[in-house]
Amino acid sequence: MSPTRKRVLVTGGAGFLGSHLCERLIAQGDDVVCVDNYFTGRKDNIAHLLSLTHFEALRHDVCFPLYIEVDEIYNLACPASPIHYQHDPVQTTKTSVSGAINMLGLAKRLRAKVFQASTSEVYGDPSVHPQREEYRGNVNPIGPRACYDEGKRCAETLFFDYYRQHNLRIRVARIFNTYGPRMHPNDGRVVSNFIVQALKGEPITIYGDGSQTRAFCYVDDLIEGFVRLMAAPDEVTGPINLGNPVETTVGELAAKIVDLVGSHSKIVHRPLPVDDPVQRCPDIARARDVLGWEPRVTLETGLRNTIAYFDRLLTENGDKPQSAAKLIA
Ligand code: NAD
Ligand code: UDP
Repeated sequence: MSPTRKRVLVTGGAGFLGSHLCERLIAQGDDVVCVDNYFTGRKDNIAHLLSLTHFEALRHDVCFPLYIEVDEIYNLACPASPIHYQHDPVQTTKTSVSGAINMLGLAKRLRAKVFQASTSEVYGDPSVHPQREEYRGNVNPIGPRACYDEGKRCAETLFFDYYRQHNLRIRVARIFNTYGPRMHPNDGRVVSNFIVQALKGEPITIYGDGSQTRAFCYVDDLIEGFVRLMAAPDEVTGPINLGNPVETTVGELAAKIVDLVGSHSKIVHRPLPVDDPVQRCPDIARARDVLGWEPRVTLETGLRNTIAYFDRLLTENGDKPQSAAKLIA
């Protein structure tokens, strides 16, 4: 290994965001170790990296200690979609909390820098809008989303206690809804659901009346934010919001996707899940100021790329009726 080549651990590296991050780190000259238990991640996401000298994949659950030698750690391991994190909520909390303890312990032993993929869910169903990092949130600690929200909040607590108690070099990013190629087709998140439904000509399932808002960031923009935050001076611990501050309703998103796919899908309404946040949008002033970062990819461009990805995937899997969609490439 070249003496200047950094060795970087990415937990959750076979997932949607993790696989893009691994790719980006290899491209910038790092040696990457990807750790994943493949709960929601897929080997297909990293198959193209496996033959590279500077990439290595380990099957491992972050709830158990890990002994390897690295210079930097990105801790992304955790199911991110509501249906997946609610499937085994106890395991979700364990992954966030024990996973954070294990990665912080590893970082402490190695004096490595450690990055936590936190979430806008730490703000819960926010009563302040847009959400700034100072806002302490409105989380229901006993609801069905709590395993994720409170697990991530506790992980942030651990990161800041290791920082204060052990002088650890930490980076905490609060990620807002991000989408793009390599999302799992059955992931249940809104962008992948709507695109897959539109491509298959199936009904588009809007939960509630569709007036709830989210702000959608394209994956390439987010990964740029991760890398900048990791490279920032050590006093930049975060928490720092990373997301695209263009707010849209779920109803508008559905209409846009139907239009871009050229689909004949009908809109149907389903009950709004418990504790589903009504309004969410990041204030990214801190990221602009400290990292010189802001998203560049428009929703339309990002959606076109993502639609093209799912179109290929469904076609390869024989999952797409020929007549259902006329994709604009
Ligand atoms: P994802 O589900 O595609 O990726 C998560 C990865 O972690 C998967 O590969 C999964 O197999 C792995 N994993 C889960 N439990 C594990 C365990 N115990 N040990 C080892 N690996 C485990 O989701 P994603 O969208 O790529 O999210 C990555 C991270 O970013 C998560 O921590 C998530 O909470 C955070 N995040 C994502 C978003 C988003 O919009 N994508 C928003 C906020 C936060
Ligand atoms: N949603 C929807 N239809 C779907 C999937 C999700 O209307 O098929 C809604 C969901 O209720 C929420 C928004 O889209 O209001 C974003 O959901 P997602 O699961 O993508 O992310 P999160 O709620 O964690 O922000």
